[in-house]
Amino acid sequence: MATTASHCPYCALQCAMSLQTGADLPEQQVDHRPPVGIGSRDFPTNRGGLCKKGWTSAELINSAGRVTTPLRRVGSEFVPVGWEQALDDIADRLRSIGERHGKDAVGVFGGGGLTNEKAYQLGKFARIALGTSMIDYNGRFCMSSAAAAGNRAFGIDRGMPFPVSDLDGAQTILLVGSNVAATMPPFIGHLEGTRERNGLIVVDPRRSETARLTDDGGGLHLQPVPGTDLVLLLGITHIVLNEKLYDEHYVQTRTVGWEGVRRSVAQWWPQRVQEVTGAPTGQLREVAHRLAGGRGTYILTGRGIEQHVDGTDTVTAAINLSLLLGLCGRPGSGYGTLTGQGNGQGGREHGQKADQLPGYRKITDPQARAQVAAVWGVDPDRLPGPGVPATELLGRLGEQIKALLVHGSNVVISAPDAGAVARRLAQLDLLVVCDFFCSETAAHADYVLPVTQWAEEEGTMTNLEGRVLRRRRAIEPPQGVRSELWIMAELAQRLAAPGVWDTEAAAVFDELARASAGGIADYSGLSHELLDTEVEAYWPYPSGSAGTPRLFAERFAHPDGRAVMVPVRSRRHAPRPVATDELTLVTGRLLEHYQSGAQTRRVEELRSARPQADLQIDPATAQRLGIAEGDPGAISNLRGEVFARAELSTGIRIDTVFLPFHFGGRQTANALTEAVVDPISAMPEFKRTQVSVRRADPV
Ligand code: SF4
Repeated sequence: MATTASHCPYCALQCAMSLQTGADLPEQQVDHRPPVGIGSRDFPTNRGGLCKKGWTSAELINSAGRVTTPLRRVGSEFVPVGWEQALDDIADRLRSIGERHGKDAVGVFGGGGLTNEKAYQLGKFARIALGTSMIDYNGRFCMSSAAAAGNRAFGIDRGMPFPVSDLDGAQTILLVGSNVAATMPPFIGHLEGTRERNGLIVVDPRRSETARLTDDGGGLHLQPVPGTDLVLLLGITHIVLNEKLYDEHYVQTRTVGWEGVRRSVAQWWPQRVQEVTGAPTGQLREVAHRLAGGRGTYILTGRGIEQHVDGTDTVTAAINLSLLLGLCGRPGSGYGTLTGQGNGQGGREHGQKADQLPGYRKITDPQARAQVAAVWGVDPDRLPGPGVPATELLGRLGEQIKALLVHGSNVVISAPDAGAVARRLAQLDLLVVCDFFCSETAAHADYVLPVTQWAEEEGTMTNLEGRVLRRRRAIEPPQGVRSELWIMAELAQRLAAPGVWDTEAAAVFDELARASAGGIADYSGLSHELLDTEVEAYWPYPSGSAGTPRLFAERFAHPDGRAVMVPVRSRRHAPRPVATDELTLVTGRLLEHYQSGAQTRRVEELRSARPQADLQIDPATAQRLGIAEGDPGAISNLRGEVFARAELSTGIRIDTVFLPFHFGGRQTANALTEAVVDPISAMPEFKRTQVSVRRADPV
């Protein structure tokens, strides 16, 4: 049996695994290819552990549902078509649409699960093969608020600016809006020591799997009203300042802007914070004192506080608190955000964001444009300017944007106001989706192009620590399936694009490394060859240097070396007038599924464990609405109606219900969420939506 060292295809922890191939494993189906088995592998992030998603991930490879030949829509049906014909037709139609409507009539939508090489090549393809500025990706729905807040505070955005293993020695960890016990279970191993030391504090409107870790011992769970996290953090900051719990020397020597922060939190007395958030004043004081109680304190944030219209300001409030306490850049303490998607970190560094070029540099920066244009072999003037963020891009479909290429994303499930997105896809002149499966988005396509999966290709990912990792090919792809690098090269050639279009990931990585040189996310010292042995490959990793596991020890990335504390104010703390029968819907993830569920819903063990969306609702609320355990529930608002089975739980507030977002059809949670966005990050409001709930008729 052969063993190939690689990493999990799913989340940002990127647990190490071994892929086993050999005839002695059980036979599988697609093209009668050799079977693949999964083994655990020791690595600093997962220490040999995998969650059930990782253990069952081999089932994706030979799944009966894989698309193994290009498909073309004919009427309401898909028919197989050869690669040459599919690519010729797509190139002709892209060219024609560009000529008739302008280059920005073609949009590109990428994903945070794409390898670094694909994310890089996609940005290049959009800008110099298609000539469009209209590119963005689903990471906009994931990390954009944390990224914006990190950039303005530190001058750099690396989710965790320290290795995960640093958490092992923590005395106190404040985890705000993250359910790691469900989303990345091996991560819990790094919280165990803190939990045993009674130092784990979880903020979540639900008594989530992670919040339950605080039950035994002296941990704390704060359960605020959804969407009031900013006020909660301002309130804790108020106590830290008022009771002089902050680190004055650190604040004076390593930060700027703290006087503004002092003024901005002055009004947030504990009693007032309690009125808005529901968190008792005693708990607020307890949190402030525990955070300030000595060394070994970490503050970690997740999507729960970031996926809001004030997500950037809320993360900023968490960073301000961290800076006041002197945590950032100090050994054994820090602030970090927990990236979600597999390459959520690398996916935002190489140019698939609307306003970015490789190296995490602004597309408006003349120096960056000149350098990247030279690597691409074009004149800088040929590079378009910034495009528009994902929600706006999707809002233009069928109007300004007539054609869309989708790579590694399932927007019909994952975008806000998903029903409207599906309707707009139907108005396009051309929709091309590259995927392994016929996802809900691919079902709307004119062409579905089947692509290789993680175990069938070489590449790199950058995990939540900013550590660059090697993915390796363990098995050849099915006949008829191609890599996205090959597809982009073929289309670029047909579109007469300038420059070199490599199809081997190692060569694309070398180009990426050159294009990133001198940027914030500098990969110029890295190569596939080096990554075969280098485990400590944290960026920035400049040529001739080594990786950087811990940032900010001496200075922050702003020119003066100081962190910027930005005063933020809550714009929505007054109770909203709502109809008495309205509840607040919070969406989130389950242990068994990943993102839109397009992959995990096709894995038997995961599907049978969680075959449908359940609506978590408090028993008293359910009783008021005439709903019993297991009853069908209808959740609705102006945008749509979703159906889910009622799951009664005292772990959720009486004014709140919870729906997972991994399901499609009549269970699409994002059919209810609104396409309103944070003015700074363009993050949509996923975590606070007003809905009505009623008992539905049995289907
Ligand atoms: Fe994969 Fe994430 Fe589970 Fe690890 S925690 S096995 S990376 S899904």
